[in-house]
Amino acid sequence: MHKIKRVERPTTRLDEAKIARTDERESGFNRALRGDFGSFAQKERKRFSRKHPLSGALVAMQANLIDIVDGIVADRKAPITDDPLLLARHIKETAYFLRADAVGICKLPPYAIYSHSAPSGDPIELDHKYAIAILVDQDSRTAAATSGHDWISNSMSFVAYSASGFIARILADYIRRLGFPARAHHALNYQVVIPPILLWSGMGEMSRMSECVVHPFLGPRFKASVVTTDLPLFCDRPIDFGLQDFCTKCKKCARECPSGALSDGDKIIRNGYQHWHTDIKKCTSFRVGNQKGASCGTCITVCPWTKPYTPFHRAVGALVRRSSLARSLAVRADDWFGYGKQDPGKKWWFDLEDIEGDGVLHVPQYERGLNNHQDSW
Ligand code: SF4
Ligand code: SF4
Repeated sequence: MHKIKRVERPTTRLDEAKIARTDERESGFNRALRGDFGSFAQKERKRFSRKHPLSGALVAMQANLIDIVDGIVADRKAPITDDPLLLARHIKETAYFLRADAVGICKLPPYAIYSHSAPSGDPIELDHKYAIAILVDQDSRTAAATSGHDWISNSMSFVAYSASGFIARILADYIRRLGFPARAHHALNYQVVIPPILLWSGMGEMSRMSECVVHPFLGPRFKASVVTTDLPLFCDRPIDFGLQDFCTKCKKCARECPSGALSDGDKIIRNGYQHWHTDIKKCTSFRVGNQKGASCGTCITVCPWTKPYTPFHRAVGALVRRSSLARSLAVRADDWFGYGKQDPGKKWWFDLEDIEGDGVLHVPQYERGLNNHQDSW
């Protein structure tokens, strides 16, 4: 990450004066639960997290720890350095020790704090100065084996949500024991919106997958938790690894999306953010209503940045980050080499559906090739 080009502002426009704080109740999954996307999506949303026995187990453990996010701050500050640079290094090393895959730090933007929480609708007040973003990989081996919308899809998300949340809870508790306020934010208990924090902390750029930030080494194949705190920390800067040019040329996620939710057109401005449009109703309805799998992450699976961290892919990544020509070639080569296709030899899970009240059934796998129609774009 130290070799990635740093810039003063995120590579997509943020008109900060115009960004209104978001109400968590307006997220796609909460709207599905409320019935905004129809009665079928509402019914399926209720069992969505537990459709596979493994995703059910992951969510059950997260639910047991849902409120472990904040606590008592030690009366005395620990006798440690007050140098923000050394403290930032120490906090990052601590997060890596706790098994994070990537960590970034930024000032907490006021517009990154939800206005109201879901489902309670309680107003949120949070006055911490800094945000620590903690990223955990969803697993490259499983990403190579899945269609993206089969029975492991939910579990890939939940394993990274669980692990990143576990790290955030411990890190926040550790900071409080050092004498500074800190709160963990995880998938079942966020008070902050994740994408702007990822942008400002140098953890990626906005992608064609709308609100999905892509990291230069993990691609979009991660989930993130956050710790907000007043511990004085040296902040990272946003990064530029050529993703805006790459996404303009690539469009593979839009081409392969089974619901047609992703745009193959130009960026738009919404709520002060410049980004590509996603049809949230189409995406959420497909994810919660998928009858041949549990959820969907096909866009993540096929993205050319979802590669294992091998010497070959690192070398190609270094070229692609530097050269627009290399990006044009890489977009083509990704299909020529068949990247993004399923590798059945790597499959390790059982295709099971948990029909609540009826036990676990064996169900057929949903296989996927690639829609290689890139020339028509
Ligand atoms: S999660 Fe699935 S349905 Fe939603 S945008 Fe990605 S590929 Fe499309
Ligand atoms: S699949 Fe291509 S267009 Fe979509 S996010 Fe990844 S690089 Fe960008």
